[in-house]
Amino acid sequence: MTDIQKMYIGGEWVDSISGESLEVRNPATGEVVGRAAFGDHRDALRAIDAAHAAFPEWSRLLARERSRYLYRLYELVYQHRNELAELVSAEMGKPIREAKGEVVGSADYFLWYAEEAKRVYGETIPSSFPNKRILVHRQPVGVVAAITPWNFPVNMVARKIAPALAAGCTVVLKPAEATPLSAIRLFELIHEAGFPPGVANLVIGQPDKVGEAFLKSPKVAKIAFTGSTRVGKLLMAGAAEHVKRVSLELGGHAPTLVFADADLDLAVKGVFESKFRNTGQMCICTNRLYVERSVAEPFVERLVARVKKAKVGDGRNPDVEVGPVINERGLEKVLNHIEDARSKGAAVVCGGNRLTEGDYAKGYFVEPTVLTGVERGMRVLEEETFGPVLPVAVFDTEDEAIRLANDSPYGLAAYVYTRDLGRAVRVAEALEFGIVGVNDGAPVQTQAPFGGFKESGLGREGGHHAMDEFLEIKHISLAW
Ligand code: NAD
Repeated sequence: MTDIQKMYIGGEWVDSISGESLEVRNPATGEVVGRAAFGDHRDALRAIDAAHAAFPEWSRLLARERSRYLYRLYELVYQHRNELAELVSAEMGKPIREAKGEVVGSADYFLWYAEEAKRVYGETIPSSFPNKRILVHRQPVGVVAAITPWNFPVNMVARKIAPALAAGCTVVLKPAEATPLSAIRLFELIHEAGFPPGVANLVIGQPDKVGEAFLKSPKVAKIAFTGSTRVGKLLMAGAAEHVKRVSLELGGHAPTLVFADADLDLAVKGVFESKFRNTGQMCICTNRLYVERSVAEPFVERLVARVKKAKVGDGRNPDVEVGPVINERGLEKVLNHIEDARSKGAAVVCGGNRLTEGDYAKGYFVEPTVLTGVERGMRVLEEETFGPVLPVAVFDTEDEAIRLANDSPYGLAAYVYTRDLGRAVRVAEALEFGIVGVNDGAPVQTQAPFGGFKESGLGREGGHHAMDEFLEIKHISLAW
């Protein structure tokens, strides 16, 4: 039997208190990739205590010293990028090229925040009294409980813990049940980088019980969550009891608008990437494509030709562009969305089915799918599909395109393709979304703010903006 990999609490590798463990399987093949300890609230409380005990010393370190730990971690993650990428691909199925991109991007968060650690500046503000001075300091909030999803098993962790540690916070991380192994490997590197015990802790366990421990413990100052809007709302409500700080990176339902004046080749490339990367399992994935009527037919034709060329398979095969979806539940949701649209009158222009022949039979594979004639009332236009399905509708005017795009409770990412500069500015400004890609299907970089409007979340990750999520502002009034 595979060894059980442990959690990391107070600088030590530990089993769960219950002795339970969890099996991790490759969604492409069903093979067991590994086993991880699987705990509950008791393990979480242990980790919170360790993080709480480590906080005073870590927060008082010179920023330059915290920065050095993060540099070391950057070097280690970068050195081990191939091995980490293979693990990511094996436990969640994404194509190996994408997994490498994910890990290199994760290393970059440690590098970026090693630098930001040194730039937590304060302010002085002119006072209304001759004998007073106003000083503004920014101080770490305290213990951060971070909860991450499975779709970017290393990147989502790095994007949270790098700024938190840089700001002087200590951290307890709970990764998703589907992908604990890459988090464990990352924590081995954290250990190797020599972070003091208790500064970064890893708990794998029952989500509701671990979540409850995070919410109930007054020692946790901040919840940093990425995942579904449903769970985000639960955490936000639970955080109210102690008025904990929350940052929430939640679901999305990104519209893409293609205007007739767009560079259609660029738009095909961008839409393909933003829809099918990570098998459509990204919060910023295009979930609705609106094309100006006059170019809809030729555009969809070109897009479908590109989609048909995409090779589907086990992500560890370097030719594969589209991997499996994460699990049975994910597969059912995707197939339901297709069936629901089909039964309400949408046309399936390509794909539309589960792949079950040969090697596909062992995994959760769906044909990359394009649907036309979609309308409001179909699930694909209202819920996050989180899979390789692209619904297409048409529009006639710029105002209509903006109205259709904004007609959603979500507001994470949106995309616009046009060569008209004025239109690009007008539309980008009118879209109620936290991220707008103008002629850009991949609008994510370490130094840029990432986060949503409306029910897509609260707060920002990435860039210098993320530092504010882990800092409190203190006014020191000096008088004499
Ligand atoms: P999920 O909400 O089911 O799970 C996310 C994390 O929350 C996991 O670690 C899970 O174990 C944990 N969790 C579940 N129930 C909990 C509870 N009661 N208390 C505490 N923790 C709990 O989401 P998922 O299916 O893992 O991830 C997909 C979702 O994440 C999608 O909606 C996607 O849009 C979103 N996402 C958002 C971003 C972003 O930055 N906005 C990035 C990636 C994914």
